Amino acid sequence: MIKNISNLQAKLQELIITQKNLPTQGHVADYIPALAEVSPKLMGISVATIDGNVIGAGDYQIPFSIQSISKVFGLVMAMNRIGDDLWQRVNMEPSGQPFNSIIQLEWEKGIPRNPVINAGALLISDVLTSRFSASKLAFLSFMRSLAGDDNIYIDNHVYQSELSHGSRNAALAYLMKSFGNIDAEIPDVLSHYFTQCSISMNCQQLATSLLFLANKGIDPKTQKVICTPRDAHRVNAILSTSGMYDQSGEFAFSVGLPAKSGVGGGVIAIVPGYGVICTWSPPLNKFGNSVAGTKLVSGLAEELGLSIYH
Ligand code: GLU
Repeated sequence: MIKNISNLQAKLQELIITQKNLPTQGHVADYIPALAEVSPKLMGISVATIDGNVIGAGDYQIPFSIQSISKVFGLVMAMNRIGDDLWQRVNMEPSGQPFNSIIQLEWEKGIPRNPVINAGALLISDVLTSRFSASKLAFLSFMRSLAGDDNIYIDNHVYQSELSHGSRNAALAYLMKSFGNIDAEIPDVLSHYFTQCSISMNCQQLATSLLFLANKGIDPKTQKVICTPRDAHRVNAILSTSGMYDQSGEFAFSVGLPAKSGVGGGVIAIVPGYGVICTWSPPLNKFGNSVAGTKLVSGLAEELGLSIYH
């Protein structure tokens, strides 16, 4: 562990320079057309520690579409709202399938494998839509309060783009409804889901806002209880087994941190007892994970000896 923060800052800078000098690998997501408009060259990293340091390098202050990273926050909100009833409607197993796969959902009678694949996040969106009078606003407020920044916004261009290319997500939601596992109207569930995916945040804001997961559920900035220690443990466990989609096994094998990626190119990794790493680089590999973003996390984790399995 690098204790001296200026040494860590220098290390982040070095990792970014090394990655930026490598040829670009992967492709920016284009199944949501608005995401394809982002430059593949942008790249950032930020580290927030529970003892109050927040540092970064590269494009760490440029907002990007958080996409599936929003699933972490939605999960916490749903756990807080309905408690253990949630686990009657969604499982906690890795899927071994692509993030937007529909096949398994039919076999398993409309119960998603876990809350961080698309089917699971749509289920969570149903819980939030049904249990909050204004779920989108509640979600945005939650993000703003965790990041301590009221400027965090929903990117309407990305939202519209997702809405008009959301047939597969609609199919997942309708399939779950056919099994009786969705309560609200499907257009409302989709609208909530696309809204949370369309939130724009930068690496620094994301790293800061997730510190509670590195600190047994307590936000170290405000001392507020965001979730119980048991739920922080559960979220981290799900991120360890399923957060990097069907590359989660390899990520656990080689890095060993609870993590979540999004098709906007962001990756967050939780280091319990220490802090949060957030990286961003839009080009994705075939699993939907940022190529350079994943390498930045693994490079830093290796350098600092960060792994929950040590
Ligand atoms: N909004 C994206 C989708 O539903 C999120 C996927 C992701 O980031 O992995 O396809």
